[in-house]
Amino acid sequence: MQYFQGKSVYKGIVMGPVAVLKKNDYQVKRARIEDPEAEVKRVKEAVEVSKKQLGRLYDKAVREVGEASAAIFEVHQMMLEDEDYLESMENMIRTELVNAEYAAAATGDNFAEMFAAMDDEYMKARSADVKDISERLVRNLSGEGDNDLSSMEPSVIVADDLSPSETVQMDKAKNTCVCDCTWIYQFSYCDSCANDEYSGINRRPDGFKRSENRHDGRCRRVFQVRLSLSRRRMCGRKPEKRMQEEAEKQKLLEELKGKENITPDGRKINIYANIGSVGDLGYVMENDAGGIGLFRSEFLYLGRNDYPTEEEQFQAYKQAVQTMAGKKVIIRTLDIGADKQVEYFNLGKEENPALGYRAIRICLKQPEIFKAQLRALFRAAVYGNLSVMYPMITSTEEVEKIYAIVAEVEEELKAQEVQYKIPEQGIMIETPAAVMISDRLAEMVDFFSIGTNDLTQYTLAIDRQNEQLDDFYNPHHEAVLRMIRMVVENAHKCGKWAGICGELGADLTLTEQFVRMGVDELSVAPSMILKLRKIVREMKAEE
Ligand code: PEP
Ligand code: MG
Repeated sequence: MQYFQGKSVYKGIVMGPVAVLKKNDYQVKRARIEDPEAEVKRVKEAVEVSKKQLGRLYDKAVREVGEASAAIFEVHQMMLEDEDYLESMENMIRTELVNAEYAAAATGDNFAEMFAAMDDEYMKARSADVKDISERLVRNLSGEGDNDLSSMEPSVIVADDLSPSETVQMDKAKNTCVCDCTWIYQFSYCDSCANDEYSGINRRPDGFKRSENRHDGRCRRVFQVRLSLSRRRMCGRKPEKRMQEEAEKQKLLEELKGKENITPDGRKINIYANIGSVGDLGYVMENDAGGIGLFRSEFLYLGRNDYPTEEEQFQAYKQAVQTMAGKKVIIRTLDIGADKQVEYFNLGKEENPALGYRAIRICLKQPEIFKAQLRALFRAAVYGNLSVMYPMITSTEEVEKIYAIVAEVEEELKAQEVQYKIPEQGIMIETPAAVMISDRLAEMVDFFSIGTNDLTQYTLAIDRQNEQLDDFYNPHHEAVLRMIRMVVENAHKCGKWAGICGELGADLTLTEQFVRMGVDELSVAPSMILKLRKIVREMKAEE
């Protein structure tokens, strides 16, 4: 039996053939050729074919995930025009009399190694792009054509790494699960460990640990792909049965679409979705979210080599508010730093990045970056129900400084006669300092959204990135729950609303408690929306 372990990006149980996507297993043969010019011509033709394929991938990615994320394919096209890269292949063919496939593979390896050895983190990361491109060239030269994953059978995908070109090609509706692989323990959960809700850390009876990653709803999971019969018996109910039960539960949940999130006492709770890019909007609609409670705008800044322009940002925000057609869209301003490093920001090495130069601190120290984002947001606000929220707030002075910058931006937009609207402005409560002064902060802002991921990290002094500390990371800690209560009470005293957008908001074991505390909004991964709606509608009425 083969074992794989990986990080799952799918929450649930699936069965299906395992598709292991292997990288770098090309055995390109070196052959001596007689006619170097004919080989050079083949390289040139393969380059043109590759550029066309990348153009098609770019168009598909623009449709599915938006322009900013699609830009990587333009970078690949540009790399295929790089003179050093092209000359290196041609020289190798002419001087060593080698076949085009070999020249492409060897040049790709050399360039990839060269990038990998660079100090600059951004350039280092380009090593994978060069490999992706040279593999494409080799495939085209050897007549294999595009690595067409779009027609792949529904499968559990196991891959060390998925290149952007592979991810875009996959039919997301068909491929059930992607495991960023170290190992997968074959198939799905055994029954005894499969608490399928978000509830901290479980241990399997056989000692394998399943722990939540707590970020973007991802969790490391253990899959059993081909359980032997004895093993299935040992694990209790058959995985097939669990899948069937899950499908039945999901069918019941579907019936809640279009219904209100209303408690038996008649209190309405807003259940919104967390998203990381405009590409997620489809899931938001599909799961009948009442709005978007956390739009992590970082996606516009990641995976590129320069700041996104105001126009690019404006287009993405406008697309989000227009798609949501009047429903609330809360866009969080830039939260770069700590776990989200972007090379061109030149943040420098820090001893304690989570306690360092990140989020609103960058925006206040480099207002030109912040202003471009605010301009894009205020312009997009004209097109729908947009709200802005600021991350990592620790003081009232920071809010004052933000408002001073907002005023400058407004002046500029007015002077330039650009259409804009100053939207509702809230802050994330994700530091103990913000909790303790939430009475004063509530007077200054329109709403609070509690970021329990960071709030737990800073309250319990536990680095959320450090897997060794998983057993200590306890978002159910009484200190965290008391803080949430305090924040909600202080918001309400000022007539403001308070929600939760960290992972704890999706913890179904706490939903009733949050509603009784007075939490007004829960913003969660789209797949959790109907589950929360069910609890809210079915909870006991207060005595
Ligand atoms: C949080 O900290 O809870 C949060 C929602 O923000 P992020 O996870 O993006 O830091
Ligand atoms: Mg946070």
